[in-house]
Amino acid sequence: MNAEVTRQIAELRETVARQHAELTRYNLVAWTSGNVSARVPGQDLMVIKPSGVSYDDLTAATMVVCDLDGVLVEGDFAPSSDTAAHAYVYRAMPEVGGVVHTHSSYATAWAACGESIPCHLTAQADEFGGEIPIGPFALIGGDDIGKGIVATLSGHRSPAVLMRNHGVFTIGRDARAAVKAAVMCEDVARTAHLAHTLGQPVPMAQADIDSLYDRYQNVYGQQPVAPTGS
Ligand SMILES: [Zn+2]
Repeated sequence: MNAEVTRQIAELRETVARQHAELTRYNLVAWTSGNVSARVPGQDLMVIKPSGVSYDDLTAATMVVCDLDGVLVEGDFAPSSDTAAHAYVYRAMPEVGGVVHTHSSYATAWAACGESIPCHLTAQADEFGGEIPIGPFALIGGDDIGKGIVATLSGHRSPAVLMRNHGVFTIGRDARAAVKAAVMCEDVARTAHLAHTLGQPVPMAQADIDSLYDRYQNVYGQQPVAPTGS
């Protein structure tokens, strides 16, 4: 590994460790379930959570580095048991730089029912561009979970998929974006559940969903400022 790759890995170890703290901060995980990974840009490598280590003990040093076949390259612990799924996503979706998995309660309740979350909220239109889709049932271990994630999210606006009878997988351009999608997915799932218990949520026009999505993805937030020449 050259010095630049070593520096990138050191930085991503910090980032990925820090992003795990967001999972506990937003109550998305119980015990050691849930994990975050990040692709090492330009390399067939990723930084991911070690298996079975308490969230309080997750630091940059405890993170592990794997290749995109899920084989351990660097680290003192075994990689997360979900490593094969993360690796499959990075192999199949080159634009993805971060992957998150949780069993967050409300979103996973929809997954348990085998139901996608229909879009009845502007916040969901903003972030997900429509429904949050349900993915297939798949057993842990091989490539089946990864295949299900990729088959469901390829060509879909949503960065989140509810894997049936299991939980949430999200993707992003980096680890932070994937964590944000996991946080927003749980928030939307919770409100959608409450709405369904209150009555019949009111449908939104597809044109309005499209318009909200376009505005949020392309206009909302801090835009980069063009450099002023001097
Ligand atoms: Zn899981």
